[in-house]
Amino acid sequence: MSILDTKIEFLKGVGPKRSVLLNQELSIFSFSDLLTFFPFRYIDRTHFLKINQINNFDIDVQVIGIVKNINTIGVGRKKRLIVKFADDTGQVDLVFFKGVSWLLKSFLVNKKYLIFGRPSKYGNIISFVHPEIDIIDSRKATSFHSIYPVYHSTEKLTSVGLNSKGISELVKTLLQKCKNQIHENLSDTIIKKYHFLNRSSSFEEIHFATTYLKLKHAIKRFKYEELFFLQISLLKQKNIRQKKHKSFIFNKVGSRFNEFYFNYLQFELTSAQKRVVTEIRNDFLTGFQMNRLLQGDVGSGKTIVAILAILLANDNGFQSCLMAPTEILANQHFNSLKEFSDQLNLNVVLLTGRTPTNEKKIILKDLLNESIDIIVGTHALIQDNVVFSRLGLVIIDEQHKFGVAQRAKLWKNKEILPHVLVMTATPIPRTLAMTAYGDLDLSVIDELPPNRKKVLTTHHYFKDVNKVYSFIYQQLKQKRQVYVVYPLIEESKVLDYKNLMDGFENMKVIFEKKGFNVSMLHGKLSSEQKEMEMQRFLQKKSHLMVSTTVIEVGVNVSNASTMVIQNAEKFGLSQLHQLRGRVGRSSYQSYCILLTSNKLTNDSRKRIKAMVDTNDGFQIAETDLRLRGPGDILGTRQSGLINLKLSSLVKDYDLVELARKDAKLLLISDANLEHIDNRNIFKYFVNHYQKLLKWSTVS
Ligand code: ADP
Ligand code: MG
Repeated sequence: MSILDTKIEFLKGVGPKRSVLLNQELSIFSFSDLLTFFPFRYIDRTHFLKINQINNFDIDVQVIGIVKNINTIGVGRKKRLIVKFADDTGQVDLVFFKGVSWLLKSFLVNKKYLIFGRPSKYGNIISFVHPEIDIIDSRKATSFHSIYPVYHSTEKLTSVGLNSKGISELVKTLLQKCKNQIHENLSDTIIKKYHFLNRSSSFEEIHFATTYLKLKHAIKRFKYEELFFLQISLLKQKNIRQKKHKSFIFNKVGSRFNEFYFNYLQFELTSAQKRVVTEIRNDFLTGFQMNRLLQGDVGSGKTIVAILAILLANDNGFQSCLMAPTEILANQHFNSLKEFSDQLNLNVVLLTGRTPTNEKKIILKDLLNESIDIIVGTHALIQDNVVFSRLGLVIIDEQHKFGVAQRAKLWKNKEILPHVLVMTATPIPRTLAMTAYGDLDLSVIDELPPNRKKVLTTHHYFKDVNKVYSFIYQQLKQKRQVYVVYPLIEESKVLDYKNLMDGFENMKVIFEKKGFNVSMLHGKLSSEQKEMEMQRFLQKKSHLMVSTTVIEVGVNVSNASTMVIQNAEKFGLSQLHQLRGRVGRSSYQSYCILLTSNKLTNDSRKRIKAMVDTNDGFQIAETDLRLRGPGDILGTRQSGLINLKLSSLVKDYDLVELARKDAKLLLISDANLEHIDNRNIFKYFVNHYQKLLKWSTVS
């Protein structure tokens, strides 16, 4: 155990009360947490002003002077401390409302101080309210820094003296105490390659920089460090998995695949689809488990790729399982498979929560006696009693709705694991995906089938809502169907529900008298009710669907031509794009109408503009990333693995690439980090990353 693992409570100047607050407010539990609690900005304090030079009241300035006298005015809670502070050019007031009695005791008249803060001016008097103060003592002339660190703090912490300055003092104490115990965690080779400072100096420089150049080096080092270890974890994960999990070899391309490909496939595959099929076929030949993430924008044709993979598994004598997040989607997949399965003599079944018990019994029995080739379903597939005899391939559609652990249930107790293909329409820029899913192989369908009509996207303000209504009416008259989506945001749930209900009533009033049916779908309905509403819409018994985002995932109602999004400014960009993907699924021209309030923030204006400008999901994702940062990439943040303190996968992309390349090379030459040159890396990795390694295993 290293001194850095010591509980923060035991650092001089912390104690039990402050430590609880440091835990709660900043998640600082140990010495090492504090050491890596980096400043979020720095103030340039290389400049000093004379009092008669103060003329800008919008910036912080620092002045050296002498305390002339100290007075309190007022009583009780209104008590204030006024300090007359002067240099050889003039005098200012320092005003304090808090900690008056303590300050009264500690200020010394006729002593030299450095003050730092924002000046203000009333009449002819310049004052500083609660400036930072440092006594200038010849013995500790280095006690303040010209590059001044600023740390995040909170109100509660400030109330116990831990404002930015208080925190910086703790860091200083800590550095003095343990700077000899900070071990290097990179190899000499890497340090030399990038001219990094050693780890211990880097900590000193990042907190109390001596020059801007050194600060820059220190920041770069820590960014690199966290990206490098992240990449090692991800790559190791991949190695471990590939070593451990043997899987089946599907080396035959047989009659089912060929018959389907040549007789039933109604279109030419796009070249992106062909490429992905080849990637999957190569995986099937390695003898190790495939763990592939297939990304493709809505409508890019992922399903057909899944079907071809299923047929390959079948040609090699294995069962496949296709799992979807909702009944609606499971049904959809089942129906597409049914279109040709009888002719190919394939036994396809559907298992969902609504499958009647008798039928389910038969399915479970048939799964075991191998008479079922393909099973399509929902969560129902991962119940304990679902046991396969020869499961060779698992396909999961719209992956973000399933947890990792849930998937693994499908192959519990199996020695040889099935291949896994996870399909998602959530566009993640490739660069980011490579890191977020460093342990999965990535395939991308980056091309839409030919002759797709673009969804035309427009933006309207509420004041023009009547125009939008008449547009909806036109579409309904042409026998198209329309979605109207309302936001439902957790924090404003009650109000949002009210808006949804009001919207529903409003649409009914407007459109029912014109002979169109209006229905409503939201999360409070039971799954049976939802399914029923969806079916009604599919069968065109209802023409206009008022809904929350429950219709977001994968739903395919090709006759729906128009998507109206109410309060579009309240939605995230990727969500808007997902919603838009519900239309444009046929040869009819489709429309997406973004309705917003008349006042927009800068960011929401950019989101709306991005939607109007492009239909390309990846471009949207890039914009989203720029606006929001990577955020919680499909729940990876909670895993703790991608817990980047300094670097951004987006802004520091060059460094991400370097770190990934270095990590790759390292593991190729020394997979177990056994080489003596890599011992620093090995030790650090074992202590800090090993335990996190399990989260992202798909298998
Ligand atoms: P998604 O990737 O969103 O799941 P789907 O697999 O549902 O998309 O495909 C959307 C539609 O495009 C389907 O109707 C499918 O038949 C059609 N499609 C897929 N690939 C092609 C292609 N290469 N050429 C023409 N149409 C295609
Ligand atoms: Mg799909």
